[in-house]
Amino acid sequence: MSGDGFETRAIHAGHEPDPSTGAIVPPISLATTFAQDAVGKHRGYEYSRSGNPTRTAMETCVASLEGARHGLAFASGLAAEDAILRTLDPGDHLIIPNDAYGGTYRLVARVHERHGIAWSACDLRDPRALEAAWLPETRMVWIESPTNPMLSIVDIAAAAHIAHERQARVIVDNTFATPYLQQPLALGADASVHSSTKYLGGHSDVVGGFIAVNAAELADELRFLQNAMGAVPSPFDCYLVSRGVKTLAVRMREHCTNAQAIVRMLREHDAVAKVMYPDESEVARRQMRDFGGMVSFLANDEDAALELVTRTRLFTLAESLGAVESLIEHPARMTHASVAGSPLEVDPRLVRLSVGIESQADLLADLKQALDAVAG
Ligand SMILES: *Cc1c(COP(=O)(O)O)cnc(C)c1O
Repeated sequence: MSGDGFETRAIHAGHEPDPSTGAIVPPISLATTFAQDAVGKHRGYEYSRSGNPTRTAMETCVASLEGARHGLAFASGLAAEDAILRTLDPGDHLIIPNDAYGGTYRLVARVHERHGIAWSACDLRDPRALEAAWLPETRMVWIESPTNPMLSIVDIAAAAHIAHERQARVIVDNTFATPYLQQPLALGADASVHSSTKYLGGHSDVVGGFIAVNAAELADELRFLQNAMGAVPSPFDCYLVSRGVKTLAVRMREHCTNAQAIVRMLREHDAVAKVMYPDESEVARRQMRDFGGMVSFLANDEDAALELVTRTRLFTLAESLGAVESLIEHPARMTHASVAGSPLEVDPRLVRLSVGIESQADLLADLKQALDAVAG
């Protein structure tokens, strides 16, 4: 039975002991097909692309954490995003943030644009910019908050108000915040989307995507697309996400504490020109429980940024984010290389940290020795 608390639901929602054996951890259902008692008479499952018990358990749990009535799991964050974008029709217009995640930009600009979706990018931090970008054909606003990699904050409730007055849907990429820190549906969004590869999985060992929605009509449309397009996660991948979210709250608290200590150190350091962290945003203080484990900053120049990312030892130079181990990267040449030459191009001095949950003193010492070395 699920209690009300976030931590309780993270462990129990969708995860009753297995009725046939009492196993506390529901078994991973690898079966691709399920016996029917008569033609069309089955026990909820027919074929594993359409539905799978391990997937249902994970979808139920993560939907509960998002405060959502419906949850749908996908093979990757981009597969989840693709399903949402396919609810648009040719001729429809979409507004994305001018610092959207590079993969989102690529999917919109290089895949969906070819199939007739018009789009524009604007600075969604300013609600007036959203109103100015509005076209009669605008049907969807895509929000990221905090954004990857600039960590800018969008007022989700204000954007939802503007969009709903004009009969458009609001989608929030909640990957950076996680449902522990931010609840987009409660703020008025129509869907909250995730790369569960990041904090939901939390251990750099599974690629996945997720969509949480309340409206039955949108859930049905997405459920149809999930089955029709077939970009579903394997049962084992679903199990890994279920296992990951059990510790989401405790991990997020540690990510936040460690990130804040690092932000304090960076703000004092000569090798750092500017620090981006959501604690400076009044909107973030209102719509988030805490500010998360992602920290971005500008080194004094590109060469310093490129050298810095090779000098840390605990912070591993790698793409991705949101797992227990700390990572460092250079967005302009790594995660955001796909936006080079576009209006979304990233500052070459930018360094992005995914602050893990190792000992805080060790993380501070590692970063400090690297910064000291490039400051000289
Ligand atoms: C990684 C990421 C995605 C894409 O997810 P994949 O699981 O890599 O397909 C989408 N949005 C954000 C903010 C991300 O960081």
